[in-house]
Amino acid sequence: MTELSVITPCRNEEACVEDFAQAVEAALAKAGDGLEWEIVFVDDDSTDSTLEKIKAIAARDARVKYVSFSRNFGKEAALLAGLRKAKGRFVATMDVDLQDPPHLLPEMLEAVRSGGWDSVATRRVSRKGEPPIRSFFARMFYRIMAKFSDVELVDGARDYRMMTRRMVEAILSMPETCRFTKGIYQWVGFKTKWIGYENVERAKGETKWSFWKLFAYAIDGIVAFTTAPLQVASCLGAASCLVSFAAMVFIVVRKFLCGDPVAGWPSLVCIILFIGGLQIFFAGILGAYLAKTYRETKRRPLYFVREESL
Ligand code: UDP
Ligand code: MG
Repeated sequence: MTELSVITPCRNEEACVEDFAQAVEAALAKAGDGLEWEIVFVDDDSTDSTLEKIKAIAARDARVKYVSFSRNFGKEAALLAGLRKAKGRFVATMDVDLQDPPHLLPEMLEAVRSGGWDSVATRRVSRKGEPPIRSFFARMFYRIMAKFSDVELVDGARDYRMMTRRMVEAILSMPETCRFTKGIYQWVGFKTKWIGYENVERAKGETKWSFWKLFAYAIDGIVAFTTAPLQVASCLGAASCLVSFAAMVFIVVRKFLCGDPVAGWPSLVCIILFIGGLQIFFAGILGAYLAKTYRETKRRPLYFVREESL
């Protein structure tokens, strides 16, 4: 029986797949003789020669398997496809660009094998080499999630993890269409050991995540795991009602005491614009939740496979 499955999503990673397979093989050789493992490459419709490279590796090593998507469905869908295909008693997910150091695999395997842990997760203890603006928004995101959601995301947490079969089954049983894997990992619970490591820069190739893609992903995560923005909207609405009521009382009293007529429409325009702006903003937040509900109710499959190895 396969002991360990390593799942890796790939999108246009022709420069990395070979190195990755070699690095994983070398790392797992250190985890002891007779360890039965497999690598499941999930090709997210690469437009370069990634799939050919993967097939070449699979042809000479039966432990290497692959799934290839019919179009680009994104990393979350790729992770799900990998988890479904993996046969191992333990399952690891990692990026193909060697930013998730394979030399940690034996240590992770030992921890899950010991029975004391259901999962071993990794986090970057530094964000060295990352653009400062990206780090700033990432920190903000983790702070918001920590305050408002019931899942506790760890700052710097990677999608690099090793899990027991039990935890994988729990993740696969979650039916949602909008999959925010970092949140799902935390939401299912189980005992998780954290390992920290220094940020490693991408070995080859280019990042597939632009700033705006990451930003949209963060908003997606917030909407998927907390309804706090809706409550914030209600609270602010109630607070502005209270303030306007107090202002009304103030104006009426002032009129009778001082006979002072209400002056000026500029202030009125400012107030109307401010309240109007808030309303549209909160309608937008409501819309985000509605859109998510709409996407969930469609129950579309998360990906289609064009070809795969047995
Ligand atoms: N990836 C994917 N589909 C996509 C974008 C990325 O499968 O649409 C994979 C990519 O090949 C890599 C992993 O997701 O293995 C992480 O991507 P990347 O290294 O570009 O992100 P970063 O590390 O810069 O956040
Ligand atoms: Mg990367």
